[in-house]
Amino acid sequence: MDGAELSESTIGLREWSDPKPQEIGATVEEFLTRLGGPTWIHLSGRDTSRTRAMSTLLHGNEPSGVRALFQWIRSGTRPTVNLVCFIGAVDAALSPPGFAYRQLPDCRDLNRCFRVPFVGREGQLAAEVLDRLRKVNPEALIDCHNTSGRGPAYGVSTRRHDPQKALTALFSDHLIVTDLRLGTLMEATEEDFPTITAECGGAGDARADLTALTALTRYATADSLWNASHRHDSVKIFHHPIRVELGDGKQVAYGPAPVPDADLTLRADADQFNFGILPQGETLGWVRDSDLNAIAARDAKGRNRTTEMFSVVDGRLVVRDASRILMMTTNSHIAKSDCLFYMLPVESSDG
Ligand SMILES: [Zn+2]
Repeated sequence: MDGAELSESTIGLREWSDPKPQEIGATVEEFLTRLGGPTWIHLSGRDTSRTRAMSTLLHGNEPSGVRALFQWIRSGTRPTVNLVCFIGAVDAALSPPGFAYRQLPDCRDLNRCFRVPFVGREGQLAAEVLDRLRKVNPEALIDCHNTSGRGPAYGVSTRRHDPQKALTALFSDHLIVTDLRLGTLMEATEEDFPTITAECGGAGDARADLTALTALTRYATADSLWNASHRHDSVKIFHHPIRVELGDGKQVAYGPAPVPDADLTLRADADQFNFGILPQGETLGWVRDSDLNAIAARDAKGRNRTTEMFSVVDGRLVVRDASRILMMTTNSHIAKSDCLFYMLPVESSDG
């Protein structure tokens, strides 16, 4: 690599314009090692009057997006219009054994830092990225992620309009529209240009890598992002899922039966429910001492919906009404630091 090509700003954001295929290494790990930290990549398009944006690796354990970008650059193909790419938690991704940490232990979750106050290293980085994105004013932004549990790919947006459906249609038929506010990149740019989060499938699932590459290839090569309206029609929208977190100070485990000392045991195969419908009374797991405080289900307004959505029957945690489960993880660390899963009453999930 020509060192002059990769420059670094005062807050540690590297910048690289038009890296050549032979400069980025033979593997995605070599690519990340060469980046050495969060990086802004600019790829010149055949039409340089327009720009699209993608971001990825805001979570260091979600590799599909950066693998797709690596393959795209290695192919040497020029995108139809300029493509700017932000690659976030490179340090976390490189930390042994590789792609294992969402963020490093002394760092904040980068995808919770895209709102005021932009404090600390991650906050300043988020502010810098937003500033650059707004200056570039792209046609759209796709932020590529992986889920920690198994499941199909889907889009997430705060908007339910045709552009968000069109971006989702690049890789999935499912769009979750949420009014939850967590400080994600997607929320920060919702007023500026069409933005979606692309959840490409489970981290470590080769199908998710292929989904991300397919999405990026379509995104980078489409003459127009908005003229495939026939494909938008197949995108099904799910509105305003309820976020189900672990109760304060509670412990979660996963298994085929209640785990002693765990306040909540979720079925080890619970992530097979992702996007599926659970019939009324279906068992999700077990709560110790029949204490429903093991979980906390909240809607976007912060209202506690736990007793409305769940009940305990002989120690089993059951759904009160037919419900759709989304984004279920079976990773207890992520369950504790982020959330257990999202849920939608079935009657409100159509349309
Ligand atoms: Zn993520």
